[in-house]
Amino acid sequence: MNKQIAVLAGDGIGQEIVPQAVKVLKAIGERFGHQFDCVDGEAGGQAIDATGVPLPSETLALARNSDAVLLGAVGGPQWETLEYERRPERALLGLREQLGLFANLRPAKIYSALLGASSLKREVVEGIDILVVRELTGGIYFGKPKGIETTPTGQRGFNTEVYTTEEVTRIADMAFKTARKRRRHVTSVDKANVLESSELWRHVVVAVHQNYPDVELRHMYVDNCAMQLVRNPRQFDVIVTSNLFGDILSDEAAMLTGSIGMLPSASLGSTVGMYEPIHGSAPDIAGKNIANPIGTIASIAMMLAYSFDLTKEAEAIDRAIHTTLSQGYRTTDIASPGATILGTKEMGETILKNLQA
Ligand code: NAD
Repeated sequence: MNKQIAVLAGDGIGQEIVPQAVKVLKAIGERFGHQFDCVDGEAGGQAIDATGVPLPSETLALARNSDAVLLGAVGGPQWETLEYERRPERALLGLREQLGLFANLRPAKIYSALLGASSLKREVVEGIDILVVRELTGGIYFGKPKGIETTPTGQRGFNTEVYTTEEVTRIADMAFKTARKRRRHVTSVDKANVLESSELWRHVVVAVHQNYPDVELRHMYVDNCAMQLVRNPRQFDVIVTSNLFGDILSDEAAMLTGSIGMLPSASLGSTVGMYEPIHGSAPDIAGKNIANPIGTIASIAMMLAYSFDLTKEAEAIDRAIHTTLSQGYRTTDIASPGATILGTKEMGETILKNLQA
């Protein structure tokens, strides 16, 4: 297989963690006989400094012409005074919009060596392997009308939750297809007892499910789901939900696993997928070689599985991460008594060594 990857390291720790992930991707290419051409592009604050805009047209063209995008993180205090439209974070929104990335996939999976890092009891989180499929371009964040208006009795702020049949159909399709690569169970989360948009959501999900008789479907109200995630998270395989509910539930599910530095994500549409760790640019630790690169390396595994259908290769990365943690190696954010603490680069090299072993 021969693929081109747009590599947008971005700002802060993005510059330190992305090179570790690229090394792992290259090693996978060598071991399994694929060619991955990694082409660097500028995005976020570094792009603002170089070109005046967070998402230069060359970067967008590079992303569009590649088979997948790997992104580190964007943002930092030095750009926080810029007006909203010119901030580094606009690069993310621009990429999502321009690449038509309507689905965000966030796994919450616990590595057995890190069971102690979760704030929940070991017996509750042991073995969890959840994938939250969040609708990313619709719902209350984009629905109109929205605004703040002045009324005779004071101000009034309002937003609108809107979903169309088309939007729900494509995200439901994505969830069922993904579930087929996993344990074939989908929980659709809504608030159909109160919201009409949720009533339509449920109706459409049931209709799409007709095409996937081999996948089990159940419905759950969002308040119950928030509770079940901490009560008995092992009951979940794939959770599919709206933009707003997914924003909240994916953070809740992520934290079951303990550390923000460990978690990957994928944003998918109909063409180019974008892969990135869930954390930001961590300006507080940037340039110190202490950031955890595992979330970014695990994002490469998601890229291989979801964009290129290379399941064996993705599993090899997962195993190398697992082995490294089992050998007692940690970055400072996941340090535990008796562990060997490694820097960003050294953690990347150890995972690489275990991948090649
Ligand atoms: P953050 O995720 O960057 O950091 C939160 C905390 O987690 C910090 O203490 C940081 O040191 C720690 N942390 C994050 N990633 C880590 C890693 N890999 N290893 C070890 N520790 C890690 O969130 P923030 O501080 O709220 O935001 C910092 C900047 O990042 C802001 O400019 C924000 O807008 C931006 N941001 C970007 C993205 C993105 O690019 N996708 C996402 C979130 C925030």
